[in-house]
Amino acid sequence: MTVQHVIIIGSGPAGYTAAIYLGRAGLRPTLVTGALAPGGQLVNTTEVENFPGFPEGILGPDLMEAMRAQAERFGTEFIHEDVVSVELVDGDEAGAGAGTAGAVKRVTLDSGDVLEARAVIVATGSQYRKLGVPGEEEYSGRGVSYCATCDGFFFKDKPIVVVGGGDSAFEEALYLTRFGSSVTLIHRRDAFRASAIMVERARANEKLTLLTNTVVTGIRGGDAAPTVGAQPSAPAAIKPLSLNLGKPAGGLSLGGGLNLPVAPARAGSVTAIDIRNTVTGDTGTLDTAAVFVAIGYTPATAFLGDIVAKDDDGYVLVEGAGTRTSVPGVFAAGDCVDRTYRQAISAAGMGCRAALDAQHYLESL
Ligand code: NAP
Repeated sequence: MTVQHVIIIGSGPAGYTAAIYLGRAGLRPTLVTGALAPGGQLVNTTEVENFPGFPEGILGPDLMEAMRAQAERFGTEFIHEDVVSVELVDGDEAGAGAGTAGAVKRVTLDSGDVLEARAVIVATGSQYRKLGVPGEEEYSGRGVSYCATCDGFFFKDKPIVVVGGGDSAFEEALYLTRFGSSVTLIHRRDAFRASAIMVERARANEKLTLLTNTVVTGIRGGDAAPTVGAQPSAPAAIKPLSLNLGKPAGGLSLGGGLNLPVAPARAGSVTAIDIRNTVTGDTGTLDTAAVFVAIGYTPATAFLGDIVAKDDDGYVLVEGAGTRTSVPGVFAAGDCVDRTYRQAISAAGMGCRAALDAQHYLESL
């Protein structure tokens, strides 16, 4: 098998940018895009207004297609599969001449095909974090969603719940007020991680209610035949139960003694959630047609096993401002490393650094 110069794993801004730089350096990278959603998280967004160079904004899918085309122009080869594992192999064993242990990186794809390279760039991004409560999996795509821009439209004039207290949750909640009859943002604490301006906008929005110190403990719905996609059935008006869902001055807490009957089940879609106040312990049920979960992300690094050092949450550890991991010849960039900035432009910048780091590594061999 030919041992390539470099394999890039992941097709978000970091992966494509690394490919553009390595392609222009004449290194003909192979980029494994992932089987399901090439282009990463931006393919699920609409307008991107903060990527420099597009004064009128650009659609997320268009931006990613442009990056892909630019990488292709400079000789990147694309493989539309998932990577299942990366192993370190001795250079001699790989038939690549004398080499030290781990000099060759063996990348196994879900088809069983195997690729080998001297350097690997991991740019696999992250995945939506899940609540892990009963009903979440069952009603996923039937009222439970992780993407407001993808599914918000289905909940026109229906009550909507958003879970989370960061910028994503506020952004989604504000966006969803275009569709829902009401939007209730539920957060487990009374302080928000989101930027002040987002919280202010939410407080000023008549359709949006902030329910703080509250966790979702279960998601309920009808158990009849599943519907296709994220389509709810008949409109579900918010039944306030004994919750006051009027606009509070600064958040809203659960009253006491709640444990109220659930709305009648509708075929195969979300009808209500169970909630608990984290301060008082009070429990209750809130009618809703949709639950948008926006509680952060988990880095997509499980396939690496323990070949590179990661932190407790699975983010790949890199050296300082560089992209070198604990293994020589393995580099990492983008949201699988960066838990702070998480922007398309910061991921692209890191992809550039990974390409230059990989290039220097290859030149040093
Ligand atoms: P985040 O800032 O990590 O916030 C996640 C939120 O979910 C936190 O409020 C957290 O609660 C809550 N949470 C986590 N696990 C939970 C669980 N199991 N149950 C209930 N709640 C849970 O994530 P993010 O909002 O996705 O933002 C990530 C980064 O992207 C941030 O740097 C953000 O500024 C950036 N971002 C920027 C924009 C923008 O500028 N337009 C838009 C979106 C995101 P705690 O607060 O209690 O931990």
